[in-house]
Amino acid sequence: MTRIGFAGLGAIGRPIAMHLAGSGELAVWNRTASRAASFAAETGAQQVATPRALAEGRDVIFTCLPNSPEVEALLDGADGLEAGLASGAIVVDLTSGIPEASRRIAERLARRGVAFVDAPVSGGTKGAEAGTLTIMVGGAPADFARVRPLLEQFGRRIVHVGPVGAGHALKAVHNALIAVNIFAIGEALTALAKAGVTPRAALDVINNANGRSFVSEQLVPERVLTGAWPRTFRLALLDKDVDIARAVMEAQGIEAPMIGTVSRLLHEARAELGEEADHVEAIKLHERRAGVELRDE
Ligand code: NDP
Repeated sequence: MTRIGFAGLGAIGRPIAMHLAGSGELAVWNRTASRAASFAAETGAQQVATPRALAEGRDVIFTCLPNSPEVEALLDGADGLEAGLASGAIVVDLTSGIPEASRRIAERLARRGVAFVDAPVSGGTKGAEAGTLTIMVGGAPADFARVRPLLEQFGRRIVHVGPVGAGHALKAVHNALIAVNIFAIGEALTALAKAGVTPRAALDVINNANGRSFVSEQLVPERVLTGAWPRTFRLALLDKDVDIARAVMEAQGIEAPMIGTVSRLLHEARAELGEEADHVEAIKLHERRAGVELRDE
């Protein structure tokens, strides 16, 4: 039986780890230990006290942290993950991270005979709960093949997209597209509301025509028009993703005025709404500035 370790039981890490609880012998570590304790009580997984203990005796270690610097820091020190990893193990980083940092981590682990793939996910907490995430994997083909059966426990579309770092590059650029759509629909619907078109009528047309997107089809009807505003994916994390996307563009010498603008808007939104705000709450700023509420009457 595969011995699995999982670090990072946050908004998306927890529901992913729930699927892995049935796939092998699972141990969990979380910075805030009480979260790991409640997960262990619910699933029967083993809670360990340090990242090192998480790695010791395990074949596959999953990490799901905010960004690559946190993953690199997790490896460090006497109680760090790296100290416990045995040759032959593999680290699967589900974090939406930085391509260059992933290459650095992969080289560092390779010196210990440990493999690494970046495997960021898309599909939100709903997709994680349902086990239907899209997973984009960067790494050696043999490493991809090795971890694929575990990824299938929580993913529906699992694509090998290139060498280490390729998953992170694609994920960042993908999320930049979501950000573009959020700001675009926020502008569009507030302007239309002021012009006398209700948001519901506008979406009835947009979503049955070619201007639609995941944001207009799902996020706005479910979260904005209802006034529910659930917190499932922090705006601060989307801001981080768009920063990574900008660096990817810059590294390739691509001019990216769209992403540059969205990045500036996200920095402003983060400063105004704070670290815990959800990404869709950026639309609240459009509402405030326009003096309208995009709510079903
Ligand atoms: P959360 O902020 O909900 O959780 C972050 C997790 O990382 C928590 O377990 C937290 O521990 C841990 N953590 C934070 N800082 C550190 C640190 N310095 N050292 C060790 N552990 C740390 O984030 P999400 O779960 O939402 O996101 C995780 C990753 O997945 C991010 O890269 C995000 O961009 C990506 N993602 C998220 C999606 C979503 O819908 N939420 C969708 C797709 C990708 P603690 O409990 O102590 O705070």
